[in-house]
Amino acid sequence: MPEGDTVWNTARVLHRALAGATLTASEFRVPQLATTDLAGWTVRESVARGKHLLLRLTAPAGGDATPAGGTIGAAPVAATADGSTPAASWTLHSHLRMDGAWRAYAPGDRWSARPGHLIRVVLRSTEAVAVGYHLHELALVPSAEEEQLVGHLGPDLLGPDWDPAEALRRLAAHPDIPVAEALLDQRNLAGVGNLYKCELLFLRGVSPWTPVRAVPDLPGLVALAQRLLAANRGRWTQSSTGSLHRGQTTYVYGRRAQPCRRCGTAIRKEELGERVTYWCPVCQPDPAR
Ligand SMILES: [Zn+2]
Repeated sequence: MPEGDTVWNTARVLHRALAGATLTASEFRVPQLATTDLAGWTVRESVARGKHLLLRLTAPAGGDATPAGGTIGAAPVAATADGSTPAASWTLHSHLRMDGAWRAYAPGDRWSARPGHLIRVVLRSTEAVAVGYHLHELALVPSAEEEQLVGHLGPDLLGPDWDPAEALRRLAAHPDIPVAEALLDQRNLAGVGNLYKCELLFLRGVSPWTPVRAVPDLPGLVALAQRLLAANRGRWTQSSTGSLHRGQTTYVYGRRAQPCRRCGTAIRKEELGERVTYWCPVCQPDPAR
């Protein structure tokens, strides 16, 4: 389940594989970018913004300032104040949603992570091959227009600009929304997915249906969200229990009908908004239900 920490890890994998490298070939297996060619372009950096991935590229020196072929959002490169042509900076945007992934391979490695028909992008340098599987919202835009793709996001739990006060302000602006929905709304705070949502509410003893205004110690909940994602950054197994053993990594998520690790009550699962939620009815009482 790609949540903020998984996307952060993925951005780091791409950064280590490609940052500073000049691409020798690219292949896009999506209609909107099918004729795009990034050969000769240099990868500057790979960063995560909430659950969005941004791969920033620079045009070849003296070369064409726009990627060859059809692009989305292509705009003329504006001249700088002194009349010189700026190095064109473009951003390849992708989103993992529920099932997307990027993997880095050495040249000659077998691409074993996923079936070949899920491949959407291949980026090659002399040192590495980055393969994007089942990516969503794939777009190549001038870096100056990144905000159109990620500007709506709330403070990034794992970003350099993490701002708990702003996240709280945004959450409090919609006081009647169930807290489980509010935590998933990336406009409030960016990075929490369904797994951490369920686990956070269990850890704080809060029913998922509690309106935001009735959550005791909302700042504590937000602070715990940041700590939980940060603790899982740098590894691929997501754990809220502290255990990395299979079957022991969560308190409630994915554990329907299994006994609560605290009180033994059967964990419940129910639709809430567009997503399912897991909770313990005893540890997370809801007076209204
Ligand atoms: Zn319980």
